[in-house]
Amino acid sequence: MTQSKLPKKSICKWDKSTLADALPLLADQIRHAEYVCRKCGRSAAEKKLLCKAVRMDSLSETKA
Ligand SMILES: [Zn+2]
Repeated sequence: MTQSKLPKKSICKWDKSTLADALPLLADQIRHAEYVCRKCGRSAAEKKLLCKAVRMDSLSETKA
């Protein structure tokens, strides 16, 4: 089994086959996610993987 690489384009723009291929890597991104896309609601550890990334930190200031 070959280890597929995370595609360079943002997760927001992945098509079905890209998604299927890179799903384990995506799962890893989500597990360590620090950013959320404010356009499509996806999350990732790396800012560049989202089209409109915002830090989740910056969104949780109002709680507590
Ligand atoms: Zn997006």
